[in-house]
Amino acid sequence: MEELVEHILDDIISVYNKNICCDKCRQDIISISLNNLPPMYYSTKETYHKIKSLDPQLQAKITTEIIKAMDLVKKNPRH
Ligand SMILES: [Zn+2]
Repeated sequence: MEELVEHILDDIISVYNKNICCDKCRQDIISISLNNLPPMYYSTKETYHKIKSLDPQLQAKITTEIIKAMDLVKKNPRH
């Protein structure tokens, strides 16, 4: 799941031309996104296959959470 979030995060950065100030902020964004995604999204084997094939609904959900996390970290960087 973390790999998937990182992958989508990289896509968002290139597609939306977003900047992340540093690796610390990047890690924060990933952990906040993961915290906000319901565990059901990555707890079952079935879901794992869905993730592998990048179910568009799941991808959209993850993208939304990453964008929210990016705004949050941008407003309140922990350093
Ligand atoms: Zn930073």
